[in-house]
Order: sequence, then C-alpha cells, then structure tokens
Amino acid sequence: METVIVIAVLITSRRRVAAALLLASPFALIACGSSGDDATRATATSDAPPCPVTPVEVVVSVDQWGEIVSELGGACANVTTLLASSSVDPHDYEPSPADAAKFGDAQLIVINGGHYDEWAAKLAASSAPGVPVVDAVELTAHDEAGHDEAGHDEAGHDEAGHDEAGHDHGAQNPHVWYDPAAVTTVSDAVTTEFKKLAPQAADYFTQRRTDLGQAFASYDEAVAAIKGSATGKTYAATEAVFDPMAAALGLQNKTPQGYQTASNNETDPSPADLNAFLSLLRDKGVDVLIYNTQTQGSVPEQIRGAAEQAGVPVVEVTETVTPGADSFEAWQVDQLTSLAKALGVDI
Ligand SMILES: [Zn+2]
Repeated sequence: METVIVIAVLITSRRRVAAALLLASPFALIACGSSGDDATRATATSDAPPCPVTPVEVVVSVDQWGEIVSELGGACANVTTLLASSSVDPHDYEPSPADAAKFGDAQLIVINGGHYDEWAAKLAASSAPGVPVVDAVELTAHDEAGHDEAGHDEAGHDEAGHDEAGHDHGAQNPHVWYDPAAVTTVSDAVTTEFKKLAPQAADYFTQRRTDLGQAFASYDEAVAAIKGSATGKTYAATEAVFDPMAAALGLQNKTPQGYQTASNNETDPSPADLNAFLSLLRDKGVDVLIYNTQTQGSVPEQIRGAAEQAGVPVVEVTETVTPGADSFEAWQVDQLTSLAKALGVDI
C-alpha cells in the first residue's frame, strides 16, 4: 500500500490533483464529462446474509464516507458515491445535471458538510427535499449556536441553515473523517437512518454495524498504540487534512500559525511564514512532517525537501481514499502504520 502512495507522489504535478486519475487510467476509461467518477455498488461479501428487503438507495458525496456507508449498508444498500476514485478535488467540485438526477433517486444522502462539499448540500436541498441527510460535520460539530438537534432533523438542510454563523471557515476543520470519534458517530447515524428506512432489515443493519466495528479493530489498535506512546510528540503539516487524527493521537501541532492560516484559506504563505516553517524543520523542531500527497506545488515540495535534508521523517497522507485500498479502514491503518514507524512506535 505504501508503494501506491509513493507512485501517487511521483505522478502528481499540479496542485490538488487526485492520484486516482492516472492510476486508474490503465484499467478504465476516464469519463470525459464533468459528472465525476461515480461508483454504485452494493458491498455484499460472499459470507454475508442476503438482504431481506429492497435495498436502500443512498447517495454519498465523497468516497471517504462512501466506503463506510457501503460497508454499513451491505446488500441492503445501493450506494452511489459521486466522487469516488476521483480525479477532481472535493473542495472545488462543480456538479453536473447528472449528479442532480442521482440525488433525485436517493432515499438517504450522506455528505461531509462544513463547506467541504457544499455542492452536495445544495443538491440535497434542491433535488431531494425531505430526504434524510447525514451531515458529518454537523453531527460532530462542537457546540455552536444554531446547531441544535431539532434543526437537524427537520428542514435543517435548507440554505438558511447553512449560511448561519458557526459555519465560517476555520471554526472547525472539515476533514472529520480523520477524527476517530466522528467516524463512530457518523457510522452510528447512518445505521440509525438505514433502520428507519428499512425497519424489516433492522437486524441486518445492526449486524453490519457490528461487523464494521470488528473491521476497525486494527484501526482502533493503531490509534491506541500511537496515543499510548507518542502523546506529546510534535508534528508540522503541509495541510490541515490530518489534524483531527493527530489531535486524537495526542500529537502537538507545531505548524507555524501564519502558514496554517494561509493553507486553510488556500492561499500561498508569505515568505516570512514559509521561512518560519523551513527553519522549524532545519532546527528539527518537530518529530514528523505530515505531507498531503494530493496537494502538490512548489511550497509543499520545498517544505518536504527541508524535512528530508534535516532528517525529519515525512509521513504521507491523502485527502481521499487511496486508489487500491481495500477499505476506508485499510487506508487509514496504512497511514497510521507509517506514522508509527516515523515516531518509533511499535504497533
Ligand atoms: Zn482538504
């Protein structure tokens, strides 16, 4: 799996490219349209029981959640993930009319929320009014005004709800699939919605949720092991994508503040902010550098170079599920294993 990530680094050359585009090309034609690379699948494994009901139609915005929803739904869900093995950046995606049509057929919608996939929140409101929406950021938001439970279960997904205060950038890191507690919360919420939509399959969905918990055993162990030995260790990151996981692991973020702000706003850092980052690395001021391979450019490359020169281990992470990963949790465990190695932790 590490090999796959390394290949992704070598072939990416522009800012925010998704590794899947080129990796997928030997095996499949890349769609020319702008409708994304959607994938519809029901993840029945051979030993899984058959679904006792008509499968629930689910639309998921991005594959970070699509993987999990597919595992939870099994044969009782037809999951369409709009940006799966995607060649486009979820932050900036422009949906097509075909995407809107897919929302029209949905019985359940799962989005990341928090402006990350705002296009999906809008399509849910316009093309699928009344359809339940699981919004990962909303579900896991810190107590913010206007985010009460009641609002979520009713018409809380209209435009007004999303433009309220509390959703401003920087209020919460939107990459919540990197937060183990959020993954649990969202998984539970999806299972609850499945049971509401297909009560006759409630036992089936309960079993799938249990199975997912078991599939996450090595993920949980990796998190616990790193947390147990590496609390207080430090890191800096070229992008905030991994920060929720780093916080859960007890790692201390020493990325220079000015750089972080610029990166979160998707602007280039000032020369002074970049220099602060480079000298932090030259001075070996952190234990590891977290490097998002899906965001390339001269700035992250310079930072990586400085880390390598100083002998600061570089840990590669990706925004979306690595092409070829067997599952969400396999993808995460690979990255956690690399991190543990870099921190000198046995897992
Ligand atoms: Zn991102």
